[in-house]
Amino acid sequence: MTDALVPPRLKDDCFAMPQGVAWVPVDAAQARLQENLRSVVGHETVAIGDTVGRILAEPVVALRSHPPMANSAVDGFGFAHAATTTGVNRLPLVGGRAAAGRPFAGAVPFGQAVRILTGAILPPGVDSVVLEEDTASDEARVVFDGPVTSGANTRRAGEDVIAGHSFLSAGHRVRAPDLALMTALGLSRVQVFQSLRVGVLSTGDELEAHPGAPVAPHQIYDANRPMLLSMIRAWGHEPVDLGKALDDPDTLRDRLQRGVAEADVIITSGGASAGDEDHVSRLLQDEANLVSWRIALKPGRPLALAMYRGVPVFGLPGNPVAAFVCALIFAYPALSMMSGAGWQAPQKITVPAAFTKRKKSGRREYLRARLTDDGHAETFASEGSGRISGLSWAQGLVELPDSAMDITPGTPVSYVPYSEFGL
Ligand code: AMP
Ligand code: MG
Repeated sequence: MTDALVPPRLKDDCFAMPQGVAWVPVDAAQARLQENLRSVVGHETVAIGDTVGRILAEPVVALRSHPPMANSAVDGFGFAHAATTTGVNRLPLVGGRAAAGRPFAGAVPFGQAVRILTGAILPPGVDSVVLEEDTASDEARVVFDGPVTSGANTRRAGEDVIAGHSFLSAGHRVRAPDLALMTALGLSRVQVFQSLRVGVLSTGDELEAHPGAPVAPHQIYDANRPMLLSMIRAWGHEPVDLGKALDDPDTLRDRLQRGVAEADVIITSGGASAGDEDHVSRLLQDEANLVSWRIALKPGRPLALAMYRGVPVFGLPGNPVAAFVCALIFAYPALSMMSGAGWQAPQKITVPAAFTKRKKSGRREYLRARLTDDGHAETFASEGSGRISGLSWAQGLVELPDSAMDITPGTPVSYVPYSEFGL
């Protein structure tokens, strides 16, 4: 069910950078995106069972307390605490029992006890339970040592969540355990954000769009598109395959227009610099308000950003390694903002380096890396941004700061596993 809400639109100047900024530090570029992007999708109501991976559009409020009634946490015997003493207690047993789903009919008289099982609601007259293993009993009575704590082995009504309280906030991405909680609290349907539709377009005359298709020697397979489409799916968005455009304004415009019709945001790769064959940036310059962020980042460099007919376009570099890193560093959190889930900052861990590197100051660097068995970060042999094999070899990225750094084995470095980027 889709309601009539119109998704908010981003402002045309949302990618503007202050004048005079030559090289934009990664942090500044991210801060800019975080400030200027917001949710661009509408809401819809979906059944609880279909919400995993979806983003809550409003806080979820408990329709029922959990637990709804005070109940027993163990199998044992229930009674009024006030009737027990220190030392040996001998309480007569009432007939019948209290079990989960089969409440005891009637009240338990003061000074008597009832057989009670885990999950059974406490009958009137019972506020405490002694564990079966701590008792001796026959048909007529139960015997145990006191003192017993008041309320022992019971769960209070609403001790987990109280009806009317909000227990999950808007922007939360639903996971399996949340289904248990929402269901227990009486919900059947919740409002989520509609999935963000993300168009992916590859550009380049040299690209063959179909994996494995016959190719001429001057051609290469479009490696970015399958990667980016699957990343978008992994991030919980709806990928829209816009195929491949040639390095020519007409086919490019045609593809972008398809993207405008079918997607909420478009990610392109290739042609984003300022060279002769950089048709993405040229077209966005001529027909939209291209902002080219020269990001102080390796691998990466220019990130072409524009609002093309109301739809944000992220122009990633063509090199697969740079496209991948820029997608993680910029597209991942930016799409998250647009999808309603807010900014996502991956958690970094500090580990000793297993490599040597002398890094100059002035730009952030990301190295393809993985952890050795003893928890050191090793890096891929080559830093070449055309080396796709390193992306696949790696299990994460080492992040080196904008400042200079001299790294030798054992130097603490920041490592971010791919999983922290939702992959
Ligand atoms: P560009 O950014 O268009 O100058 O491309 C930079 C490099 O990345 C060139 O070597 C391109 O052939 C390569 N490249 C661009 N797009 C892709 C793609 N989709 N898959 C694989 N390589 C690409
Ligand atoms: Mg190109």
